[in-house]
Amino acid sequence: MNLRPNSDEARDVAYHLHGYTNARAHGDRGPIIVDRGEGIHVFDSNGKRYIEGMAGLWSVALGFDETRLMDAAFAQMEKLPFSHTFSHRTHGPAIDLAEKLISISPVPMSKVFFTNSGSEANDTIVKMIWYRSNALGLHDKKKIISRLGGYHGVTVAAASMTGLPTNHKSFDLPIDGFLHTTSPHYYREGRDAESETEFATRCADDLDAMIQAEGPDTIAAFIAEPVMGAGGVVVPPATYWEKIQAVLAKYDILLIADEVICAFGRTGNMFGSTTFGIKPDIITMSKQLTSSYFPFSAFMMNDRVYEPIADESNNIGVLGHGYTGGGHPVGAAVALENLKIIEERDLVANAAARGNELLAGLAHFEDHPLVGNVRGVGLIAALEVIAPDGRTDDFPVGQLGAKMSAIMLKNGLVSRNMGDALAFCPPLIINSAEVKKILHIVEKSLDELS
Ligand code: PLP
Repeated sequence: MNLRPNSDEARDVAYHLHGYTNARAHGDRGPIIVDRGEGIHVFDSNGKRYIEGMAGLWSVALGFDETRLMDAAFAQMEKLPFSHTFSHRTHGPAIDLAEKLISISPVPMSKVFFTNSGSEANDTIVKMIWYRSNALGLHDKKKIISRLGGYHGVTVAAASMTGLPTNHKSFDLPIDGFLHTTSPHYYREGRDAESETEFATRCADDLDAMIQAEGPDTIAAFIAEPVMGAGGVVVPPATYWEKIQAVLAKYDILLIADEVICAFGRTGNMFGSTTFGIKPDIITMSKQLTSSYFPFSAFMMNDRVYEPIADESNNIGVLGHGYTGGGHPVGAAVALENLKIIEERDLVANAAARGNELLAGLAHFEDHPLVGNVRGVGLIAALEVIAPDGRTDDFPVGQLGAKMSAIMLKNGLVSRNMGDALAFCPPLIINSAEVKKILHIVEKSLDELS
C-alpha cells in the first residue's frame, strides 16, 4: 500500500480501526471515502458515482437526499434536542412513534421499547426474556435458539445468537445458553433429490430434535429473520415458517422476528412477517425505520411477553433497564416522517414492483456459466457466483464473490458479497430505469469476471 502522506486515506488508516475490516490489509488504494449522496447514488471523494445497491447497510430506504427527513431532524433539534424516557418521563415524538408502530404491526402488539441499534434491541430482548421467565417462576427456561447463518448483531448476547463463525472466532462466543439450528438455505443445505418442501420439514424436525435434546422446559425463545440478510439473502422454502411455528407452539416457546432488515417494505409488505405468515411475540426493528439518517431501533412485544415483565417490575419496584438515547426525540421525529413518506409514496408497493423487475432480470443470468443461483423476495435479492466446472483453481470457492463485487464497484455499483453470494438491496425509492442500470452493470461485470 502506498498512500499519499497525510491524505485522507492515509489518515484514516493511521487513526481509525474499522469494524468488519482486516486491520492489516487496506488494499492498494486504502479505504473508499464516501463523500456525498443523491437519490440512490453515492459519490466518493474523487467524484466517482456509484449506485448504492445495498442502500448503505440494507437501510437507506428513502435514498441519500431526502430533505423532509433533514427538516424533521432540524425542527426537532431546535425544539427539544434531547430528553430521556426514564422514570415516568416521555416526549411527543416517542409517544407518537410508539402508537404508530403498534398501529402498523402485522400482529397484535401491546408495547414498544426503544433502543439505539439492531444489536442493542436484540440484546435487550434476551434480557427481557430472562426477566419474563423469572417473573413466571420458570427459572430454567432461559435458552435461546437461533439459526446457523442468522445475523442478529454483535453485542455479547446478540453475537451469541448470530450464527456466523466470524462473529464468534476469538471473541469467546457464543456464551452458554445460545443454540443454533439448521439454516433454511435450500441451495446450500438441501440434499440430493430432496425437494424444498422436504427440506423445510427437515429444518422443523431438526428444531424439534434440538428442543427435545435440551429439554423443552429450558427453551425460552426462537429468534429468526424472516429472510436472512447477512447470511447470504436466504429466502426460506414456502412451507418453512408454518412448520417452524408449529414446533414452537408445541413447546410454548416465544418467537422473535428480527425484522431489522425486513421491516418497512423490504420484502414487498410493510413487514416480512406478513410476507411469510409469521406470528411473532416480539418484533425487532431498526435500519429502514429512520432510513439510517439517525441511529435508532425498537422492538415491540405482545401481552404474553409484556404482562409478566410489568408484574415483575412492580414486584421489584422498577424495570432496571434503559438507554440514555433510547427513543431519542430527534430519531423518533425522523422515524415518524420516514414512515409517513413510505406510506404517502406507497414505497412498499414500489419495492414489490421494482423487486419483481430486479429478480426477473437477475434470473436471466442463471444460464451464465459463473452463476449458480439467483434468489430474492421484494427488493432484496442475491446472485451466487460459482466456478465453472473443473476450474476451482482459477476460481477458488469464496473468492469469486469478492472479485465480482470489486468489478461491480469499479463499474459503479455497490453490492455486498457474503462469500460467493452478492446481495442487492437498493433504496425503496428506486425506479425501473435504475433497476435496468443495475442489471446492465451486473451483466457487464459477469462478462469481465469470465
Ligand atoms: N439484525 C439484523 C437482521 C441485521 O441485519 C443487523 C445488522 O445488519 C442487526 C440485527 C444488527 O444491527 P446493528 O448493526 O444496528 O447493531
